[in-house]
Amino acid sequence: MKINSSKLICAPITERRAADFLSSMAEAEQVADAIELRFDYLEDEELLRLLAQLPSRVAGLTKPLVFTYRPREQGGQRELDICHRLSFWRNLSPQLIEALSYADFELDLVEGLAHSSPPIPWSKVICSYHNLDQTPDNLMETYQRMVRTPAAVVKIATRAVHLSDCLHIFELLERRVSPKPVIALAMGGPGLMTRVLALAYGAMLTFGALRRGAESASGQPTVAELRDLYRVKRLSRASEIFGLIGYPIGHSRSPAMHNAAFAALGRDAVYLPFEVDHVAQFVRDFVRPGTRKLDWQLRGLSVTIPHKLAIMPYLDFIDPTARRIGAVNTVVVAGDQLCGYNTDLIGAMKPLDELIDVREAKVAVIGAGGAARAVCYGLSQRGAAVTIYARDLNKAERLADEFQAQAALLESFTGQTDIVINCTPIGMRGHSEGDSPVKPEHLQGVKLVYDLIYNPAETTLLEYARQAGCRTLGGLAMLVAQAAEQFRLWTGEEAPVELMWQAASGFNSQSQT
Ligand code: NAP
Repeated sequence: MKINSSKLICAPITERRAADFLSSMAEAEQVADAIELRFDYLEDEELLRLLAQLPSRVAGLTKPLVFTYRPREQGGQRELDICHRLSFWRNLSPQLIEALSYADFELDLVEGLAHSSPPIPWSKVICSYHNLDQTPDNLMETYQRMVRTPAAVVKIATRAVHLSDCLHIFELLERRVSPKPVIALAMGGPGLMTRVLALAYGAMLTFGALRRGAESASGQPTVAELRDLYRVKRLSRASEIFGLIGYPIGHSRSPAMHNAAFAALGRDAVYLPFEVDHVAQFVRDFVRPGTRKLDWQLRGLSVTIPHKLAIMPYLDFIDPTARRIGAVNTVVVAGDQLCGYNTDLIGAMKPLDELIDVREAKVAVIGAGGAARAVCYGLSQRGAAVTIYARDLNKAERLADEFQAQAALLESFTGQTDIVINCTPIGMRGHSEGDSPVKPEHLQGVKLVYDLIYNPAETTLLEYARQAGCRTLGGLAMLVAQAAEQFRLWTGEEAPVELMWQAASGFNSQSQT
């Protein structure tokens, strides 16, 4: 079957047993647009078993098939010298050769065969180049070399060490010198944007794993993520781009929330995680309209640890409240201006205001970091009597000076307050789950305990609070409220809060970032 539609999500089959391989093929037939049969995942005995059963099985498939038999040094699973690879392709039955849409031949194989008769017609050959270590600067030269071969399609996959490596992949897709279809992507975590935006930039296909653990390369999302979370087949060069910058990004819930909101409102937009280590370089190369090296419609960013302060010198405008809090968690790209806001304030205070009147309440804020700054600002505006408890008294005192609060050492906390707000990561999954910043006996008589942590939904602190008869509030409400405000700043539209809540709470994350 010839591939004539663009915008395909191709699922690689990476099973090691013939029976599992065949059942995964049937699964891929249901969810993917094309199926890559990775024969190099099977050792000889299982491979022979698979090849014996395959002719009858491929007859029932409707999706285009790509056959691959990759040696280990080029990203495959087996030690395969060139004779072994050639013999595999030459021994493929005519029935299977007829059934495949494309055979993936690595560049060395293609060049070795250039002057002899190929085992598969050139019109069905993808010429591939893989670099598992880096994305070389001279990728265009490699591409031009590959275009000159008789193969019908060019595939380039390189490892992105930094986000900036993705620029080479986009450059290649933008500056194609041949009508030959191209598959180009960057592997590894920083390469995700190339996989999500590949189809929008004209790549023939993008790869998606059938499930977590079935990836054929690092950084590969699942078919479901590409199709339902990022909606890659709907994206084009005109699509608006939003994203989250942080380091490390972990398993953030923000893509789930914002992409669900964009989909619900029918907005041609996508929200991506960007693992950014150098803020200045990222702003120059990807964000600022006058200097960015990527021609895309970037409209806004969420900013998380450790960049909430670091981003500030690179902005043209900072909202006075964000400046007063001393942190920016939202960037809006407005024309050629970069504008910074803080939605953690509204995110933290809205759920609290809905539950309790904090005016003149005695409030213990635990922690003196970024989130504590937003909370202290919100509480000082409302006239609460705040005491900041931190392990570092100097930090607590500095913050207290700014927001007319008291300061104390965390270990001196003994209760006797109306509200406790935890602004530390103590008790967070992946950090110190099971711990509490305060002892259970010190929660007697406290009216409300608010933990900014949202994973787990009930932290040990909240469990103690519930047992002590206090009202409790978890961090998910803040997460959703700050995201909804970001959405409003970026789009001017009210966010579908209920849907964002569902997207955030349905997400089974390993850590809270
Ligand atoms: P941050 O700027 O790193 O501040 C963390 C604070 O916690 C600092 O004061 C730090 O003390 C203190 N701390 C860390 N480990 C501690 C320990 N073992 N014992 C005592 N104090 C400790 O982080 P942040 O941005 O403020 O975030 C704080 C928490 O709020 C995190 O759990 C974060 O996930 C959560 N948060 C939730 C939301 C939401 O939407 N729900 C939004 C923002 C933040 P030192 O300064 O001495 O290190």
